[in-house]
Amino acid sequence: MNDEQGTLSKAKAAQALVCGLPDDWHLHLRDGDALKSVVLATALQFGRAIVMPNLKPPVTNVSQALAYRQRILDALKLVIDETVRNIDRYKTSDILATIRMQHFFNRPDASADWMLEQLLQAAHFEPLMTLYLTDHTAPSDIDEAVDSGFVRAVKLYPAGATTHSDAGVTSIHQLHHVLARMEMRGLPLLVHGEVTDRDVDVFDREAVFIDRVMIDLRRKFPGLKLVFEHITTEEAAHFVRDAEGPIAATITPQHLLYNRNAIFNGGLRPHWYCLPVLKKERHRRALMQAASSGSARFFLGTDSAPHPAHLKEHAAACAGCYSAPHALALYASAFDAVDALEHLPGFAWAHGAAFYGLSANTRSIRLVPEACQTPQRLGFGERHIVPLAGGEFVPWRFDGFVDC
Ligand SMILES: [Zn+2]
Repeated sequence: MNDEQGTLSKAKAAQALVCGLPDDWHLHLRDGDALKSVVLATALQFGRAIVMPNLKPPVTNVSQALAYRQRILDALKLVIDETVRNIDRYKTSDILATIRMQHFFNRPDASADWMLEQLLQAAHFEPLMTLYLTDHTAPSDIDEAVDSGFVRAVKLYPAGATTHSDAGVTSIHQLHHVLARMEMRGLPLLVHGEVTDRDVDVFDREAVFIDRVMIDLRRKFPGLKLVFEHITTEEAAHFVRDAEGPIAATITPQHLLYNRNAIFNGGLRPHWYCLPVLKKERHRRALMQAASSGSARFFLGTDSAPHPAHLKEHAAACAGCYSAPHALALYASAFDAVDALEHLPGFAWAHGAAFYGLSANTRSIRLVPEACQTPQRLGFGERHIVPLAGGEFVPWRFDGFVDC
């Protein structure tokens, strides 16, 4: 870290940590009412986010990406305007506390003016768009994406791997002309790295994917920018660490903080269920080691993936953890637990931007080492949502944008 933004204000415990404004390099924002319910949580903590294209129908071309980008910006503006109106209106009443909770303005003494300034900062949020790779993607789609200036990557879902992935790629071998164009134009391929064969154990699907797909992909397209998304295993961490060429990985807060016991702790706990699924402690440790190693190949991607609670607390629970409102508090807690807070700014602020060829954000945020209770449930359109670790205490608290 060679810049003030990335230097911690030496956070020996009990000191606040000031960090360059992070970006979220893997995010699900959904659409419609769900989008309106979640977009502000991310905009209040992150400068930019790589927005995943797995809507129904998926975002497969530039004009769809442009329309989706506009819906995101419109939803954000609508929610900010509405919140500003409510704060102004209820400034002096008890309802202010409800607004504070609703948006997880997690500062015990958050004043109306402070919240208004945070909202002003959130209005600068920039969604970075992605295209969904299908069997029908053409090299011309890649050219249009690069030329658009707002599509920053293409996402590969093996067909059937996770939520809304049935339009995904059935055989990567038929897409060599598309991948060659991406390699030539410098457009990153974001990979959901799991095989989908039912005969492969669900806990082994990522490791098997490395052997069956990643090694070959790296060899055939040595210049292709690859992001191994939401890695969950020691094998993936070591593959990314050791591979040649431009390669990186995102890591979620849940895979840094929890092992698979969390899913079965005192009964089946669907709010800890995501894909790729949490793994054994050995893998969690390897991911934490990679994230806190200082290597520029590892960076923040929450994979925050909201589902209404009734579809999580369900006979066939949806996969996905909603971590957006408290993501930075979770990451700070994970890094602090291994005494590696000095590597958090690289992971959260610098490495991702560098990999995508973007400049790092110039604004800053602050985290403080004060226990904070994560939200138990939050509004989600007509329904509600239970966030990851909902209602639990984490040792760090996000304290908003600095100097505003
Ligand atoms: Zn995802």
